[in-house]
Amino acid sequence: SSEKDAALAAVPSDSPTIFDKIINKEIPANIVYEDDKVLAFRDVAPQAPTHILLIPKVRDGLTGLSKAEERHCEILGRLLYTAKVVAKQEGLEEGFRIVINDGPNGCQSVYHIHVHLLGGRQMNWPPG
Ligand code: ADP
Repeated sequence: SSEKDAALAAVPSDSPTIFDKIINKEIPANIVYEDDKVLAFRDVAPQAPTHILLIPKVRDGLTGLSKAEERHCEILGRLLYTAKVVAKQEGLEEGFRIVINDGPNGCQSVYHIHVHLLGGRQMNWPPG
């Protein structure tokens, strides 16, 4: 898929990402939730009727989950909790899926940690 090609072409790095531009409102995004720590916006290439990305406003070294340190526990919990809040806001009473891709094998293409919230259709298992 094109997502996979983008992920395999992405070089893991600490450089600013496109998500910084979204946080700074330099490029538009369809924002569905925002507070002082977390931003949630619709994915430009939705893989389900509802496909939202949740990101920390401050990356603090958290390019991906594999870089998590003890100090990130609070933001990691907040991202998951906020995913639940947004799922409810989106009316996903029948369920949803949370995905965190990490590294090339995980098909990560943007190196600013993000939680995918997918819903609005029956998901399959195992994921691809
Ligand atoms: P993958 O590309 O394999 O899904 P990631 O887990 O790193 O890898 O997800 C990055 C996500 O960011 C992709 O789903 C992609 O569609 C999305 N994305 C990239 N640029 C933007 C943007 N400007 N606005 C919204 N979503 C974006």
